[in-house]
Amino acid sequence: MTEQFDAIVVGSGPNGLAGAVTLARAGLHVRVYERASLIGGGASSAELTLPGFLHDVCSAVHPMAFESRFFREFQLGSRVDFVVPEISYAHPLDGGRAGLAHLDLDRTVQSLGRDGAAYDLLMRPLAEQASRVAEFTSSTLLRMPRHPVTAVNFGLRALAQGGPWWNAPFREDAAPAMITGVAAHTILHQPSLAAAGAGLALAAYGHARGWPIPRGGSQAIVDAMVDDIRAHGGEFVTDHEVTSLDELPSSRVVLLDVTPEAFVRLAGERMPTAYRTRMERFRYGGGVAKVDFALSDPVPWTNEGVREAGTIHVGGTRAEIAEAENDVSRGRLHPRPYVLAAQPSLFDEGRAPDGAHTLWTYTHVPAGSDADRAEAVVSQIERFAPGFRDTILATSSRSAVEVGRYNPNYPGGDIAAGAPTFPQLVRRPVLSPDPWHTPVPGVYLCSASVSPGPGVTGLVGWRAALSALRHDFGTRTQPSLSHV
Ligand SMILES: Cc1cc2nc3c(=O)[nH]c(=O)nc-3n(C[C@H](O)[C@H](O)[C@H](O)COP(=O)(O)OP(=O)(O)OC[C@H]3O[C@@H](n4cnc5c(N)ncnc54)[C@H](O)[C@@H]3O)c2cc1C
Repeated sequence: MTEQFDAIVVGSGPNGLAGAVTLARAGLHVRVYERASLIGGGASSAELTLPGFLHDVCSAVHPMAFESRFFREFQLGSRVDFVVPEISYAHPLDGGRAGLAHLDLDRTVQSLGRDGAAYDLLMRPLAEQASRVAEFTSSTLLRMPRHPVTAVNFGLRALAQGGPWWNAPFREDAAPAMITGVAAHTILHQPSLAAAGAGLALAAYGHARGWPIPRGGSQAIVDAMVDDIRAHGGEFVTDHEVTSLDELPSSRVVLLDVTPEAFVRLAGERMPTAYRTRMERFRYGGGVAKVDFALSDPVPWTNEGVREAGTIHVGGTRAEIAEAENDVSRGRLHPRPYVLAAQPSLFDEGRAPDGAHTLWTYTHVPAGSDADRAEAVVSQIERFAPGFRDTILATSSRSAVEVGRYNPNYPGGDIAAGAPTFPQLVRRPVLSPDPWHTPVPGVYLCSASVSPGPGVTGLVGWRAALSALRHDFGTRTQPSLSHV
């Protein structure tokens, strides 16, 4: 007998899984296809270096675990044990100094000396309304904001930190470096409006509910969704790369956790020419090279506060980071790159054998670079943590090309699955209040290439599934996703 499903999901990243959870909870028979043997896409964990050292293969820190509407509906916080570091992120500077973003905004402001008041003015209205900021930045920008005051506060601050006047409020180097350290997550030119917006939102979450780290690695988030899908009748096929929509069993809807580039290939002749042209115009951004370490000891950061932080932005002052990032956007490797680091084993002792530690890092490189950046990363960390080199037991280094090979949703190492520039936030991947719904009948796009974009949020998958329920099953009722 030919197999038949209500819904097929291609790709088991957090968005594909969020789509599958939502459809399974609506009572539909769902099957998920995944090309890798491990379910989870950008949220999986594995022993990359030595036995007993558990590393996050891609994402490690989850500011959206508490702020994403999907994860709140799914009650992720009661399914996964998160640890919230008191220092969300740290920014080491020369001379043993550092900017420390405490969960407690007052404490952060006090630590910033003459720039405390400017930082307070920038951050407090956003931190106090962090959930509204998340709601605004997670909606398609074509809709009227539900909280216009928050939207205006956010927009004015993004403009202030996204243009050539960005240094005007500051007199010292720690506060501006901290803001740029977060904005640089976007792999965009510094300063720019989209980078400033994303940076301010993430920084605000750092002073609200924090930047949590899941016990058991990012895989714990994936496992919670997989358990829920299975409990509601869903099934998984792994080690199976879908190469054409025509090869899939019969189903009423298909959700694709793939890039626009891959969608064109999968749909073939089924895709209308005008829509194909829009998919082909979608632009991918800079890449990352990932370096993971197994360590004999914690990283010997000179600054004591940095030793307690969950995430560290390494690269020095605002000007130094901007120079390194702008080289990357011009297609050049910088000798002293910006490095994003996380030290999960400080908060989750299960990540490494007794007394030992893991360090998760990546650095930005031009798209498609095959450079091994392990030495550049080690040198940058040594600058702020002399002796780091002597703690290294083993290293796993992947170039941007290898990151893209590991997961085709990161073409050339672009972990955002499409440059998160301002035009591509408005038009992601097309200008539409319902960008998940495609003109190929019954087919929905649900990857980070679609609004609201990258990060482990589940939001794209959830919205794509709700769109499918509306268009193909005639239901506007959102299925309950709650735990009990
Ligand atoms: C190194 C790195 C660090 C990151 N750090 C963070 C972080 O700390 N915090 C954060 O929030 N985000 C982080 N991100 C980003 C985050 O991981 C992604 O934005 C997120 O995983 C996107 O989810 P997704 O479901 O859209 O796609 P993905 O997670 O990329 O999943 C797509 C899945 O689809 C599968 N697939 C694709 N095509 C096919 C096909 N044809 N057939 C079958 N299967 C297919 C892929 O194998 C993959 O499993 C990071 C990403 C990387 C790579």
